[in-house]
Amino acid sequence: MTDTEGLTGRIVMQDDAYYDEARQNYNGRFQKFPLIIVYCLYTEDVVNAIKWVRKHRIPFRVRDGGHSYEAFSLLNGGLIIDVSELCHIQINENQGTVRIGAGCRFKDIYETLWQKGLTIPAGTCPTVGVSGLTLGGGHGLLSRQMGLTCDSLIEIEMVTAHGRIIRANRNENASLFWACRGGGGGNFGAVTSFIFRTHPIYIVSHCRMTWDFDDLAAVVDAWQRRAPYFDTRLTSLLALPARSQGDLRFTGVFIGTQTDLEQLLLPFPEAIPPKTVSFHTNTWAEVVDLFAGTPAKQELFKNSSAYVYEMLNEAGIATLVRYLDDAPGPINVLALNAYGGAIAQVPTDATAFFHRRALFSMQYQSYWFEKDQAEQNIDWIESFRTSMLPYTRGAYCNYCDRMIADWPTAYYGDNLPRLQEVKRMYDPENLFHFPQSIPPK
Ligand SMILES: Cc1cc2nc3c(=O)[nH]c(=O)nc-3n(C[C@H](O)[C@H](O)[C@H](O)COP(=O)(O)OP(=O)(O)OC[C@H]3O[C@@H](n4cnc5c(N)ncnc54)[C@H](O)[C@@H]3O)c2cc1C
Repeated sequence: MTDTEGLTGRIVMQDDAYYDEARQNYNGRFQKFPLIIVYCLYTEDVVNAIKWVRKHRIPFRVRDGGHSYEAFSLLNGGLIIDVSELCHIQINENQGTVRIGAGCRFKDIYETLWQKGLTIPAGTCPTVGVSGLTLGGGHGLLSRQMGLTCDSLIEIEMVTAHGRIIRANRNENASLFWACRGGGGGNFGAVTSFIFRTHPIYIVSHCRMTWDFDDLAAVVDAWQRRAPYFDTRLTSLLALPARSQGDLRFTGVFIGTQTDLEQLLLPFPEAIPPKTVSFHTNTWAEVVDLFAGTPAKQELFKNSSAYVYEMLNEAGIATLVRYLDDAPGPINVLALNAYGGAIAQVPTDATAFFHRRALFSMQYQSYWFEKDQAEQNIDWIESFRTSMLPYTRGAYCNYCDRMIADWPTAYYGDNLPRLQEVKRMYDPENLFHFPQSIPPK
């Protein structure tokens, strides 16, 4: 019998009826069996959990939305400090800010802010947690106009490795605040709340174009020449499914009128005529819903990533065509997110998020339904990623991948030494550790 004395909050143990559900993360590929899951309802519950793991010397992980690609918020045989029930949202209209509990998911955040005609720039998936996404950077449909999610961050409240509650902002614990804007979740302490600057938003124009697979090389080339340099009010994504798995899809979201968007995009369809083109104007809330789709509770997948700093040459594009032409199925996609704009306007050392000068990010994605489809899909992702290495640099820490050997450099580039300094300062005993946590040295 495990001694839970000192732990507070809602405690779920292995013999509880709810345990099997509580131990699941978004990526069903990982089945882990923690000893205890403690759902924290108050900051004090997080403090007590940290003190408890120190006392019992038990390994632990902090979990919010549970969307870590490699399930780094889960482990076997230890404690899960689950913050997902710390989910208050308080808007301060006078100050133009919002305080968000560390357990909130983007569905609730977008809906609550929208009631006041506000938003924060973040990702498209409604069930992703604010903690993991923000701490690792956070890109999405508004990034080129409003920056990364972490660029709107003003302050965090954190429980440290010693169980102290501290604030970090530009003036107080400033180096920790720097590290929490792109350094990745789970490294320095358990965040219990965030304060963000809010952004007014109302009507949004958007465009969708599709092409057949045979246009792949020309579409990628035409997109990469324009997407990072478009008017900063336009953020675009390119989804490239493998052959026979659907059309190539361009999506552009624009904070401006549909006429202006049509004008802006005109040279793109002229360069490579699409199969279908559609322009729409909607409220931001409708656009959020449109891109959210119907999220699954859990999926089986392996994803990875890389950044493109110099336009892909013919050989690079030929490599991606080759992999997408011969994918294992059932679902294999290369997803490109345009950078530039507000992302690039922040110096690469101003926050821990390093890859601000990239032209775009690439996400290698594989999803499957049957266990025996896992191996070939994982191999495909790894082979695709490594074959693209001559044309790419680094990787996004929020798209974590255990197979990247030199992941500290890939995720953090030149910002790594400073992140290690912050780690030594705030977690000298390396209490917060997982397979890809920042090494103190
Ligand atoms: C379907 C899907 C869609 C996605 N879409 C986007 C997107 O549009 N844009 C984008 O940028 N990213 C996107 N991501 C990636 C996402 O940003 C990361 O997976 C992120 O880490 C998930 O955060 P989480 O809180 O949900 O996950 P968790 O698994 O709970 O946490 C992720 C990491 O953060 C740590 N952590 C969690 N809570 C805390 C806390 N309170 N304090 C300290 N550390 C904590 C965990 O220990 C873990 O290491 C997507 C992921 C998925 C699965």
